[in-house]
Amino acid sequence: MKEGQYYAADESAMLAFGALLYAALNKQGVVFLRGDLGLGKTTLSRGVIQASGHKGAVKSPTYTLVEPYENTNGAIYHFDLYRLCDPEELEYLGIRDYFDNDMLSLIEWPDKGLGCLPVADIEISLAVEGPGRTITFFGATLSGEAAVERLKEVLKTHLFKSVVQPY
Ligand code: ADP
Ligand code: MG
Repeated sequence: MKEGQYYAADESAMLAFGALLYAALNKQGVVFLRGDLGLGKTTLSRGVIQASGHKGAVKSPTYTLVEPYENTNGAIYHFDLYRLCDPEELEYLGIRDYFDNDMLSLIEWPDKGLGCLPVADIEISLAVEGPGRTITFFGATLSGEAAVERLKEVLKTHLFKSVVQPY
């Protein structure tokens, strides 16, 4: 199965899910994050970025559109395209350079940039469910499918049961 669903009951579960996603991705790929304002896209991204070894803050790049995180574990580019008016603006940003090869990109509001973005390896959507969020994830390329398989496998293990409750 190339898709899965998980229930993150609170912010810390969302961060934990981000860390597991990072491990499943092998440091590369394009991830689309969908869901309304305030659903946890930036929180999930923070989980991914901190799992890569980043110690400082992870802020929403709402005004800068993209925030780079580069360290010895590789590069992660965190996009928030909410304020993008026209996908073509991405060309001025030098968008192609961000998707060259071994990088990991997390893209909030990808639909604002469609046509100027690469295809996603994994598409994630968030929805409110009770006090928490349902995370639905889908592998859209071969490498994305493989990452989803790894993610589902690790989500099953008891090790993370206490932080990420099965939906
Ligand atoms: P977005 O980037 O989608 O606009 P944020 O990541 O900024 O959303 O999160 C908005 C709020 O939702 C934050 O206060 C955060 O703590 C909270 N939040 C994140 N994940 C969860 C969760 N799984 N359950 C409940 N609240 C969450
Ligand atoms: Mg955000």
